[in-house]
Amino acid sequence: MSCAFDLAHYRELLDAAKAGGYRFATFDREPQPGDVFLRHDVDLSLEAALRLAELEADAEAQATYFLMTRSVFYNLASEEGERALARLRALGHRVGHHAVHPHVDLDARFDPVVAWHNPDPEFMSASIEGAVNVMSEPWFSRDHYRSDSNRHWRSGCPHAALAQGKLEWVQLLTHPEIWVHPGETMRETMLAMLDAERARDLERLAADRIDLT
Ligand SMILES: [Zn+2]
Ligand SMILES: [Zn+2]
Repeated sequence: MSCAFDLAHYRELLDAAKAGGYRFATFDREPQPGDVFLRHDVDLSLEAALRLAELEADAEAQATYFLMTRSVFYNLASEEGERALARLRALGHRVGHHAVHPHVDLDARFDPVVAWHNPDPEFMSASIEGAVNVMSEPWFSRDHYRSDSNRHWRSGCPHAALAQGKLEWVQLLTHPEIWVHPGETMRETMLAMLDAERARDLERLAADRIDLT
């Protein structure tokens, strides 16, 4: 099995978790043995989030999508943003808040769960009033955490450990953009994402009654 960052291998990760006897859990309760918390920080693209969300629904896997209210790359308050939120809910996923410190913009769109965007150590694991901070105990511990940051698994791709049930429980952080867009490096993946965004921006311009003739 090649550990590519693509949708085929993401599906294999989900299948590995099932083969290892894990259940998909959400942050409304504390971790228990056998839990896999699928966490997605949506930094750049709602479209990529929806692609992954459809794949998970097809695999009967439930995830938590952390969406930003202060992204420079997408607007959750736009019609597109509202549609994406509704679709994530319709697919059975949870929606948390991907917050930019120090702003916590929790409202009725979100479950009371927060993941900081690019957190500094000073506040990363601090408690947040009225919400679960996913990087605080008991939801976070070094031994129970795997992340695909910049297309790099620090302790290797977890598919084998999942398939063999070697992790007591795990919070698995993945970024949809990395899995949806092709490339051999982070730069290539980002350039592919920008190509896709350019096509979408042309559609947005046409929808905005801009004359493109
Ligand atoms: Zn793998
Ligand atoms: Zn982020």
